[in-house]
Amino acid sequence: MVGHLDADCFYVSAERVRHPDLVGKAVGVLGNNGACVIAKSYEMKAKGVKTGTPIWDAKVLCPDGVYVKRDFYWYEVLSRKMLDIVGSFFSPLEYYSIDEFFFRAIPINHGQTLAQAATAVRDHIRDVAGLPITIGIARTRTLAKLFSDTAKPFGAVAVTDRNHERELLARLPVTEISGIAGRRAARLAPYGIRTCLDLADADGKLVRQLLTKTGYELWLELNGRPVTPIRPARSPHKVLARGGSLMGNVDDPKLLWAWCVRHVERLIEELHYHNVRTDSLSVALAWKNGESTGGLCRLPCPSDRFDELLDAARVALRRAYLPDATATHMHVIAPELRRARGFQMSLFDPPNPKDKAVAAVKTAVNEKFGRFKIRSGTTLHLPAVYRDPANDFDICDVRGKVCF
Ligand SMILES: [Mg+2]
Repeated sequence: MVGHLDADCFYVSAERVRHPDLVGKAVGVLGNNGACVIAKSYEMKAKGVKTGTPIWDAKVLCPDGVYVKRDFYWYEVLSRKMLDIVGSFFSPLEYYSIDEFFFRAIPINHGQTLAQAATAVRDHIRDVAGLPITIGIARTRTLAKLFSDTAKPFGAVAVTDRNHERELLARLPVTEISGIAGRRAARLAPYGIRTCLDLADADGKLVRQLLTKTGYELWLELNGRPVTPIRPARSPHKVLARGGSLMGNVDDPKLLWAWCVRHVERLIEELHYHNVRTDSLSVALAWKNGESTGGLCRLPCPSDRFDELLDAARVALRRAYLPDATATHMHVIAPELRRARGFQMSLFDPPNPKDKAVAAVKTAVNEKFGRFKIRSGTTLHLPAVYRDPANDFDICDVRGKVCF
Protein backbone atom coordinates (compact mmCIF):
# COMPACT_ATOMS: atom_id res chain seq x y z
CA MET A 1 0.00 0.00 0.00
CA VAL A 2 1.13 3.53 -0.80
CA GLY A 3 0.67 6.59 1.39
CA HIS A 4 0.40 10.18 0.21
CA LEU A 5 0.90 13.00 2.68
CA ASP A 6 0.03 16.58 1.80
CA ALA A 7 0.18 19.56 4.14
CA ASP A 8 -3.03 21.59 4.28
CA CYS A 9 -2.50 25.12 2.85
CA PHE A 10 1.17 24.65 3.69
CA TYR A 11 2.54 28.19 3.29
CA VAL A 12 -0.26 29.61 5.44
CA SER A 13 0.15 26.85 8.05
CA ALA A 14 3.90 27.54 8.13
CA GLU A 15 3.26 31.24 8.79
CA ARG A 16 0.88 30.28 11.58
CA VAL A 17 3.58 28.18 13.23
CA ARG A 18 5.74 31.26 13.81
CA HIS A 19 2.86 33.75 14.07
CA PRO A 20 0.22 31.92 16.15
CA ASP A 21 -1.98 35.06 16.15
CA LEU A 22 -2.75 34.23 12.49
CA VAL A 23 -4.63 31.08 13.49
CA GLY A 24 -8.32 31.42 12.67
CA LYS A 25 -7.76 34.53 10.54
CA ALA A 26 -8.06 34.84 6.77
CA VAL A 27 -4.44 34.70 5.60
CA GLY A 28 -3.00 35.13 2.13
CA VAL A 29 0.62 34.46 1.22
CA LEU A 30 1.97 36.69 -1.55
CA GLY A 31 4.49 35.88 -4.28
CA ASN A 32 7.92 37.49 -4.62
CA ASN A 33 6.76 40.79 -6.02
CA GLY A 34 3.88 40.96 -3.59
CA ALA A 35 1.37 41.20 -6.42
CA CYS A 36 -0.42 37.85 -6.35
CA VAL A 37 -1.83 35.51 -3.71
CA ILE A 38 0.06 32.23 -4.09
CA ALA A 39 -1.55 30.47 -1.11
CA LYS A 40 -4.59 31.18 1.00
CA SER A 41 -6.19 29.91 4.19
CA TYR A 42 -9.58 28.20 4.07
CA GLU A 43 -11.08 31.37 5.61
CA MET A 44 -9.76 33.43 2.70
CA LYS A 45 -10.75 30.80 0.13
CA ALA A 46 -14.33 31.03 1.45
CA LYS A 47 -14.32 34.74 0.48
CA GLY A 48 -13.55 33.82 -3.14
CA VAL A 49 -9.80 34.48 -3.20
CA LYS A 50 -8.01 31.98 -5.43
CA THR A 51 -4.38 31.09 -6.01
CA GLY A 52 -3.16 33.68 -8.51
CA THR A 53 -5.66 36.38 -7.51
CA PRO A 54 -3.91 39.79 -7.66
CA ILE A 55 -3.60 41.53 -4.29
CA TRP A 56 -5.83 44.45 -5.36
CA ASP A 57 -8.69 42.05 -6.17
CA ALA A 58 -8.05 39.99 -3.04
CA LYS A 59 -8.30 43.09 -0.85
CA VAL A 60 -11.72 43.84 -2.31
CA LEU A 61 -12.93 40.26 -1.78
CA CYS A 62 -11.36 39.92 1.65
CA PRO A 63 -10.61 43.33 3.19
CA ASP A 64 -9.97 41.89 6.66
CA GLY A 65 -7.40 39.41 5.36
CA VAL A 66 -3.81 39.41 6.57
CA TYR A 67 -1.36 39.36 3.67
CA VAL A 68 2.19 38.17 4.21
CA LYS A 69 5.09 37.71 1.85
CA ARG A 70 6.33 34.21 1.16
CA ASP A 71 9.50 32.99 2.86
CA PHE A 72 10.65 29.77 1.23
CA TYR A 73 13.58 29.49 3.57
CA TRP A 74 11.25 29.05 6.53
CA TYR A 75 8.97 26.73 4.56
CA GLU A 76 11.94 24.51 3.80
CA VAL A 77 12.86 24.32 7.50
CA LEU A 78 9.36 23.00 8.28
CA SER A 79 9.31 20.78 5.22
CA ARG A 80 12.51 19.01 6.37
CA LYS A 81 11.10 18.69 9.86
CA MET A 82 8.00 16.99 8.46
CA LEU A 83 10.17 14.77 6.27
CA ASP A 84 12.18 13.67 9.32
CA ILE A 85 9.05 12.83 11.29
CA VAL A 86 7.44 10.84 8.48
CA GLY A 87 10.76 9.12 7.77
CA SER A 88 10.87 7.86 11.35
CA PHE A 89 7.64 5.93 10.68
CA PHE A 90 7.77 4.90 7.03
CA SER A 91 10.40 3.77 4.54
CA PRO A 92 10.99 4.17 1.65
CA LEU A 93 9.88 7.77 1.60
CA GLU A 94 9.80 10.05 -1.42
CA TYR A 95 10.28 13.83 -1.11
CA TYR A 96 7.87 14.65 -3.92
CA SER A 97 7.44 18.38 -3.36
CA ILE A 98 7.97 20.84 -0.54
CA ASP A 99 4.79 19.67 1.20
CA GLU A 100 3.95 16.31 -0.41
CA PHE A 101 5.51 12.92 0.27
CA PHE A 102 4.83 9.39 -0.91
CA PHE A 103 5.75 6.37 1.20
CA ARG A 104 5.20 2.69 1.61
CA ALA A 105 2.40 2.45 4.15
CA ILE A 106 2.56 -0.15 6.90
CA PRO A 107 0.96 -0.23 10.34
CA ILE A 108 3.24 1.43 12.91
CA ASN A 109 2.24 -0.68 15.87
CA HIS A 110 1.35 -4.33 16.06
CA GLY A 111 -2.32 -4.98 15.49
CA GLN A 112 -2.94 -1.48 14.17
CA THR A 113 -4.93 -0.83 10.99
CA LEU A 114 -3.56 1.44 8.26
CA ALA A 115 -6.30 3.96 8.99
CA GLN A 116 -5.17 4.10 12.61
CA ALA A 117 -1.55 4.52 11.54
CA ALA A 118 -2.52 7.38 9.20
CA THR A 119 -4.44 9.10 11.98
CA ALA A 120 -1.60 8.64 14.48
CA VAL A 121 1.02 10.13 12.13
CA ARG A 122 -1.26 13.01 11.16
CA ASP A 123 -1.88 13.89 14.83
CA HIS A 124 1.80 13.48 15.68
CA ILE A 125 2.85 15.97 12.96
CA ARG A 126 0.29 18.47 14.22
CA ASP A 127 1.58 18.09 17.81
CA VAL A 128 5.30 18.14 17.04
CA ALA A 129 5.59 20.44 14.01
CA GLY A 130 2.35 22.40 14.43
CA LEU A 131 1.26 21.63 10.87
CA PRO A 132 -2.12 20.30 9.76
CA ILE A 133 -1.75 17.63 7.08
CA THR A 134 -3.83 15.03 5.27
CA ILE A 135 -2.86 11.43 4.60
CA GLY A 136 -4.38 9.09 2.05
CA ILE A 137 -3.43 5.42 1.82
CA ALA A 138 -4.41 3.20 -1.09
CA ARG A 139 -3.13 0.58 -3.53
CA THR A 140 -1.19 2.99 -5.79
CA ARG A 141 0.20 6.53 -5.81
CA THR A 142 -2.57 7.86 -8.03
CA LEU A 143 -5.26 6.41 -5.77
CA ALA A 144 -3.52 7.57 -2.59
CA LYS A 145 -3.20 11.13 -3.90
CA LEU A 146 -6.78 11.11 -5.12
CA PHE A 147 -8.10 10.02 -1.72
CA SER A 148 -5.92 12.41 0.27
CA ASP A 149 -6.88 15.33 -2.00
CA THR A 150 -10.53 14.66 -1.32
CA ALA A 151 -10.05 14.06 2.42
CA LYS A 152 -8.70 17.60 3.01
CA PRO A 153 -8.36 19.33 5.39
CA PHE A 154 -6.85 17.33 8.24
CA GLY A 155 -7.99 13.99 6.89
CA ALA A 156 -6.59 10.51 7.37
CA VAL A 157 -8.00 7.78 5.14
CA ALA A 158 -6.89 4.31 4.24
CA VAL A 159 -8.82 2.65 1.46
CA THR A 160 -8.03 -1.02 1.74
CA ASP A 161 -11.33 -2.51 0.72
CA ARG A 162 -12.12 -2.84 -3.00
CA ASN A 163 -15.80 -1.92 -2.59
CA HIS A 164 -14.91 1.14 -0.56
CA GLU A 165 -12.45 2.12 -3.30
CA ARG A 166 -15.08 1.81 -6.04
CA GLU A 167 -17.60 3.70 -3.99
CA LEU A 168 -15.20 6.65 -3.56
CA LEU A 169 -14.11 6.59 -7.21
CA ALA A 170 -17.75 6.70 -8.33
CA ARG A 171 -18.21 9.97 -6.43
CA LEU A 172 -15.21 11.75 -7.96
CA PRO A 173 -15.22 13.47 -11.37
CA VAL A 174 -12.24 12.47 -13.57
CA THR A 175 -10.90 16.00 -13.31
CA GLU A 176 -9.96 15.26 -9.68
CA ILE A 177 -7.08 13.18 -11.01
CA SER A 178 -3.98 15.33 -11.32
CA GLY A 179 -3.05 15.19 -14.99
CA ILE A 180 -6.62 15.14 -16.28
CA ALA A 181 -7.94 18.64 -16.82
CA GLY A 182 -10.28 20.35 -19.28
CA ARG A 183 -9.06 19.14 -22.65
CA ARG A 184 -8.39 15.55 -21.62
CA ALA A 185 -11.70 15.35 -19.75
CA ALA A 186 -13.47 16.65 -22.87
CA ARG A 187 -11.94 13.80 -24.89
CA LEU A 188 -13.38 11.27 -22.43
CA ALA A 189 -16.88 12.79 -22.16
CA PRO A 190 -18.26 11.44 -25.50
CA TYR A 191 -17.57 7.91 -24.21
CA GLY A 192 -19.57 8.54 -21.06
CA ILE A 193 -16.42 8.65 -18.92
CA ARG A 194 -17.20 11.23 -16.29
CA THR A 195 -16.22 9.80 -12.92
CA CYS A 196 -12.96 8.24 -11.82
CA LEU A 197 -14.78 4.89 -11.67
CA ASP A 198 -15.95 5.30 -15.29
CA LEU A 199 -12.31 5.76 -16.25
CA ALA A 200 -11.10 2.81 -14.19
CA ASP A 201 -13.76 0.56 -15.77
CA ALA A 202 -13.15 1.81 -19.32
CA ASP A 203 -11.25 -0.31 -21.85
CA GLY A 204 -7.51 0.22 -21.45
CA LYS A 205 -6.95 0.36 -25.23
CA LEU A 206 -9.52 3.10 -25.59
CA VAL A 207 -7.93 5.10 -22.76
CA ARG A 208 -4.57 4.77 -24.47
CA GLN A 209 -6.02 6.05 -27.74
CA LEU A 210 -7.70 8.99 -26.05
CA LEU A 211 -5.08 10.02 -23.50
CA THR A 212 -1.82 8.49 -24.82
CA LYS A 213 0.70 6.69 -22.63
CA THR A 214 0.46 8.98 -19.59
CA GLY A 215 -3.30 8.54 -19.49
CA TYR A 216 -2.95 4.80 -19.85
CA GLU A 217 -0.56 4.74 -16.90
CA LEU A 218 -3.09 6.65 -14.82
CA TRP A 219 -5.68 4.05 -15.85
CA LEU A 220 -3.39 1.23 -14.66
CA GLU A 221 -2.81 3.00 -11.35
CA LEU A 222 -6.56 3.59 -10.94
CA ASN A 223 -6.97 -0.16 -11.28
CA GLY A 224 -4.49 -0.81 -8.51
CA ARG A 225 -1.49 -1.61 -10.73
CA PRO A 226 1.48 0.47 -9.60
CA VAL A 227 3.38 2.15 -12.44
CA THR A 228 5.60 4.62 -10.62
CA PRO A 229 7.62 3.28 -7.69
CA ILE A 230 8.44 5.26 -4.56
CA ARG A 231 11.72 7.03 -5.19
CA PRO A 232 13.68 7.70 -2.00
CA ALA A 233 16.25 9.74 -3.96
CA ARG A 234 15.59 11.87 -6.99
CA SER A 235 17.27 10.91 -10.25
CA PRO A 236 20.10 13.21 -11.32
CA HIS A 237 19.09 16.45 -13.01
CA LYS A 238 19.32 16.46 -16.79
CA VAL A 239 18.87 20.23 -16.89
CA LEU A 240 19.40 22.94 -14.32
CA ALA A 241 17.87 26.40 -14.55
CA ARG A 242 17.40 29.51 -12.51
CA GLY A 243 15.09 32.41 -13.16
CA GLY A 244 11.50 33.49 -12.98
CA SER A 245 9.59 36.73 -12.88
CA LEU A 246 11.56 39.94 -13.41
CA MET A 247 9.44 41.55 -10.68
CA GLY A 248 7.76 43.93 -13.09
CA ASN A 249 8.36 45.08 -16.63
CA VAL A 250 11.91 45.44 -17.82
CA ASP A 251 12.83 47.25 -21.01
CA ASP A 252 16.23 48.62 -20.01
CA PRO A 253 18.93 46.30 -21.44
CA LYS A 254 21.17 47.17 -18.47
CA LEU A 255 18.57 45.75 -16.08
CA LEU A 256 18.05 42.69 -18.25
CA TRP A 257 21.76 42.02 -18.13
CA ALA A 258 21.78 42.52 -14.34
CA TRP A 259 19.03 39.90 -13.98
CA CYS A 260 20.89 37.58 -16.32
CA VAL A 261 24.08 37.82 -14.24
CA ARG A 262 22.15 37.23 -11.03
CA HIS A 263 20.66 34.06 -12.50
CA VAL A 264 24.08 32.94 -13.77
CA GLU A 265 25.47 33.30 -10.21
CA ARG A 266 22.61 31.23 -8.81
CA LEU A 267 22.95 28.64 -11.57
CA ILE A 268 26.66 28.24 -10.83
CA GLU A 269 25.83 27.59 -7.18
CA GLU A 270 23.65 24.70 -8.38
CA LEU A 271 26.25 23.36 -10.83
CA HIS A 272 28.78 23.27 -7.99
CA TYR A 273 26.34 21.62 -5.59
CA HIS A 274 25.52 18.84 -8.05
CA ASN A 275 29.11 18.58 -9.22
CA VAL A 276 28.24 19.05 -12.88
CA ARG A 277 29.30 21.29 -15.73
CA THR A 278 27.40 22.42 -18.77
CA ASP A 279 28.22 22.23 -22.48
CA SER A 280 26.12 25.26 -23.32
CA LEU A 281 24.06 28.02 -21.81
CA SER A 282 20.72 29.34 -22.92
CA VAL A 283 18.67 32.35 -21.95
CA ALA A 284 14.88 32.25 -22.30
CA LEU A 285 12.81 35.42 -22.17
CA ALA A 286 9.09 36.01 -21.99
CA TRP A 287 7.88 39.36 -23.28
CA LYS A 288 4.90 41.44 -22.37
CA ASN A 289 3.44 41.15 -25.89
CA GLY A 290 3.12 37.39 -25.37
CA GLU A 291 6.18 36.45 -27.38
CA SER A 292 8.91 34.26 -25.98
CA THR A 293 12.44 34.08 -27.30
CA GLY A 294 15.54 32.06 -26.54
CA GLY A 295 19.23 32.26 -27.27
CA LEU A 296 21.81 29.51 -26.96
CA CYS A 297 25.57 29.71 -26.73
CA ARG A 298 27.82 26.67 -26.93
CA LEU A 299 30.88 26.59 -24.73
CA PRO A 300 34.28 25.51 -26.04
CA CYS A 301 34.40 22.90 -23.26
CA PRO A 302 32.11 21.98 -20.34
CA SER A 303 32.28 24.63 -17.64
CA ASP A 304 31.01 25.76 -14.26
CA ARG A 305 33.17 28.87 -14.20
CA PHE A 306 31.73 32.33 -13.72
CA ASP A 307 33.95 34.04 -16.28
CA GLU A 308 33.14 31.51 -19.01
CA LEU A 309 29.45 31.27 -18.30
CA LEU A 310 29.26 35.05 -18.18
CA ASP A 311 30.68 35.28 -21.69
CA ALA A 312 28.24 32.63 -22.88
CA ALA A 313 25.32 34.39 -21.16
CA ARG A 314 26.19 37.64 -22.91
CA VAL A 315 25.95 35.93 -26.31
CA ALA A 316 22.81 33.97 -25.38
CA LEU A 317 21.03 37.05 -24.03
CA ARG A 318 21.89 39.01 -27.15
CA ARG A 319 20.38 36.22 -29.26
CA ALA A 320 17.19 36.23 -27.19
CA TYR A 321 16.92 40.02 -27.01
CA LEU A 322 14.15 41.96 -28.73
CA PRO A 323 14.90 45.67 -29.02
CA ASP A 324 12.09 48.02 -27.97
CA ALA A 325 10.17 45.24 -26.24
CA THR A 326 9.34 44.76 -22.56
CA ALA A 327 10.42 41.57 -20.81
CA THR A 328 8.55 40.01 -17.89
CA HIS A 329 10.33 36.68 -17.22
CA MET A 330 13.80 35.28 -17.71
CA HIS A 331 15.41 31.87 -17.24
CA VAL A 332 19.06 30.99 -17.55
CA ILE A 333 19.37 27.31 -18.42
CA ALA A 334 22.19 24.77 -18.42
CA PRO A 335 20.64 22.24 -20.82
CA GLU A 336 23.52 19.80 -21.28
CA LEU A 337 24.94 18.70 -17.97
CA ARG A 338 28.03 16.58 -17.59
CA ARG A 339 29.57 15.05 -14.52
CA ALA A 340 32.36 17.39 -13.46
CA ARG A 341 34.91 14.65 -14.10
CA GLY A 342 35.72 12.47 -17.02
CA PHE A 343 35.71 14.63 -20.13
CA GLN A 344 38.31 16.08 -22.42
CA MET A 345 39.41 19.63 -21.67
CA SER A 346 40.15 21.95 -24.55
CA LEU A 347 43.84 22.32 -25.37
CA PHE A 348 43.28 26.06 -25.55
CA ASP A 349 41.69 26.50 -22.18
CA PRO A 350 44.31 27.67 -19.74
CA PRO A 351 42.50 28.41 -16.49
CA ASN A 352 43.13 32.03 -15.57
CA PRO A 353 44.55 32.00 -12.00
CA LYS A 354 43.12 35.46 -11.25
CA ASP A 355 39.56 34.50 -12.22
CA LYS A 356 39.91 31.30 -10.26
CA ALA A 357 41.07 33.18 -7.18
CA VAL A 358 38.23 35.71 -7.42
CA ALA A 359 35.67 32.88 -7.72
CA ALA A 360 37.18 31.11 -4.72
CA VAL A 361 37.01 34.26 -2.56
CA LYS A 362 33.41 34.84 -3.62
CA THR A 363 32.42 31.29 -2.66
CA ALA A 364 34.28 31.45 0.67
CA VAL A 365 32.75 34.77 1.72
CA ASN A 366 29.24 33.75 0.71
CA GLU A 367 29.53 30.45 2.51
CA LYS A 368 30.58 32.24 5.66
CA PHE A 369 28.39 35.35 5.63
CA GLY A 370 25.40 34.38 3.54
CA ARG A 371 24.32 34.06 -0.05
CA PHE A 372 24.91 37.08 -2.30
CA LYS A 373 26.97 38.97 0.28
CA ILE A 374 29.58 39.18 -2.47
CA ARG A 375 28.18 39.28 -5.95
CA SER A 376 28.90 40.67 -9.36
CA GLY A 377 28.79 44.49 -9.47
CA THR A 378 26.56 44.17 -12.55
CA THR A 379 23.68 43.05 -10.32
CA LEU A 380 23.85 46.29 -8.30
CA HIS A 381 21.34 47.60 -10.82
CA LEU A 382 18.75 45.55 -8.92
CA PRO A 383 18.82 47.15 -5.46
CA ALA A 384 15.16 46.39 -4.76
CA VAL A 385 15.75 42.66 -5.27
CA TYR A 386 18.55 42.59 -2.72
CA ARG A 387 16.85 44.90 -0.24
CA ASP A 388 14.16 42.27 0.31
CA PRO A 389 15.62 39.15 1.97
CA ALA A 390 12.60 37.15 0.75
CA ASN A 391 14.42 37.03 -2.60
CA ASP A 392 17.51 35.34 -1.20
CA PHE A 393 15.89 31.94 -1.25
CA ASP A 394 13.55 30.61 -3.88
CA ILE A 395 11.40 27.51 -4.05
CA CYS A 396 13.74 25.96 -6.60
CA ASP A 397 16.53 26.25 -4.01
CA VAL A 398 14.80 23.56 -1.93
CA ARG A 399 16.83 20.57 -3.07
CA GLY A 400 15.88 16.95 -3.50
CA LYS A 401 12.25 17.31 -4.60
CA VAL A 402 11.23 14.78 -7.23
CA CYS A 403 8.73 16.98 -9.04
CA PHE A 404 11.09 19.87 -9.74
MG1 LIG B 1 -0.47 20.94 0.20
